[in-house]
Amino acid sequence: MNWKRWSFLILCVIAVGGWSNVPLRAQISQGPPAMGIPESQSLVGDTTALAREAQDWLVDLVKINTTNPPGNEQAAAKYIAGILTKEGITPEILDVTPGRSAVVARLRSSVVADPSRALLLVAHMDVVGVDRSKWTVDPFGGVIKDGYLYGRGSIDDKSMVAANLAAFVALKRGNVHLNRDVIFLATADEEQFGDASLKILIAKYWDKLAAGFAINEGGKVVLKNGKVQYTAVQVGEKVSVNISVTATGKGGHASVPTKQNPVVHLAAAVEKIGDYTAPVHLTSIVRRYFEGLSAIEDDETGKWMRVLDTPDRGEHAQRVLSDMSPMWNSMMRDTIAPTMLQAGVRANVIPSEARAVLNVRLLPGDTIDVLVNELNKLVNDPTVKLEVLPDGGLAAPNSSMDTEFYALITKLCAKEFGGAPVLPFMSTGATDSAQLRLHNVQAYGLRPIPMTEEDDARIHGDDERLPLASFAKGVDLLTRIVAEFSVTR
Ligand SMILES: [Zn+2]
Repeated sequence: MNWKRWSFLILCVIAVGGWSNVPLRAQISQGPPAMGIPESQSLVGDTTALAREAQDWLVDLVKINTTNPPGNEQAAAKYIAGILTKEGITPEILDVTPGRSAVVARLRSSVVADPSRALLLVAHMDVVGVDRSKWTVDPFGGVIKDGYLYGRGSIDDKSMVAANLAAFVALKRGNVHLNRDVIFLATADEEQFGDASLKILIAKYWDKLAAGFAINEGGKVVLKNGKVQYTAVQVGEKVSVNISVTATGKGGHASVPTKQNPVVHLAAAVEKIGDYTAPVHLTSIVRRYFEGLSAIEDDETGKWMRVLDTPDRGEHAQRVLSDMSPMWNSMMRDTIAPTMLQAGVRANVIPSEARAVLNVRLLPGDTIDVLVNELNKLVNDPTVKLEVLPDGGLAAPNSSMDTEFYALITKLCAKEFGGAPVLPFMSTGATDSAQLRLHNVQAYGLRPIPMTEEDDARIHGDDERLPLASFAKGVDLLTRIVAEFSVTR
């Protein structure tokens, strides 16, 4: 540690010493070494003041309505650019479509960048819409109540925009020597994955974003009975594909019905598909996830998790666990959810066509053609046609669980949360990380903000809210993970 860093730490201690009522401490220097990574002294000081600032940024970001569509992320991008500029960092606003922009900034480790070493901190600025009548507060008011920040995006994903920004700014303020470039990126259009999304951004501006490693959303720290139960680090995700189901028949007057009514054929097909259960495929990530979880679940649940893969009791265990949790069910197999139905224009007219849409979530490694074949056999109706729609996601390789970065995340999360297990996780939902993984980025889904399942479930729902004490903890942990990975001592 050089004198500059010492003086930075001393200044930090003086700056926050007066009101450090949140019990945050840099804990890197405590405890035994783990995961083969040598123990080190803290590279960042007390983050209490930083977390307060990040909270203010987050409140401001929630007040900027970036409901997608239309998104309007440019306003949020400009706000973030203003913060970066104040810190002496030069941001770049990347325009994607009118009114929709991303913002990127880089802290350099050397004159010539080595993208394969660079660390990308990425989060999205857009949010999903709200049903205002169901909210108890203004979803864009930045309301703080009972220790929570309420608002659309307070968790997904503006909390991570603000936390990433804090970690990034901390490196700059610390005047540290980086051993890799660190890139901050706030993206647009994650929720719709349309023409302003990361996919387009990568196509247009890859040289500005290229990295070997990334932290993105997709993971979670699960809080139960006031204690962290486990940390899930997302290393892979399911693939979303839509299928249209079209029944073609004979239209005519509803007073003279025939057997060729497409509404009836479609309804029968959708019922069969709805009852279908795809076979279980346990991927390596899911195996490790259940293995780790079995140690902390109740005895009964843990027992089933441990025999999940055995020839004699595996099948029964898969059924029990699928019934216990729809998410576990979805982690073990391809799922199909009929989501849209469309037929008819008048109550007294039989239409000549009826249509449904199925949203399929494939396990990585499974192919849609195999599933469509299976469904065709099941429906067994020549008037019904299944067609894969062109807007499907692409299967990306999983991120490695053997990188130095994954080991570091595991070590610091375990230590922070009293030894609670850190498990690899395959999310059932899609994130921008698939795009990154397709470009050889080892992207890890990490939201280091401890939250109950109940609060987590408010994402995309009513009264989304972020526990602020947990947010401060998340800022601290994220800052230390980023510093430990990218700062030369
Ligand atoms: Zn999100």
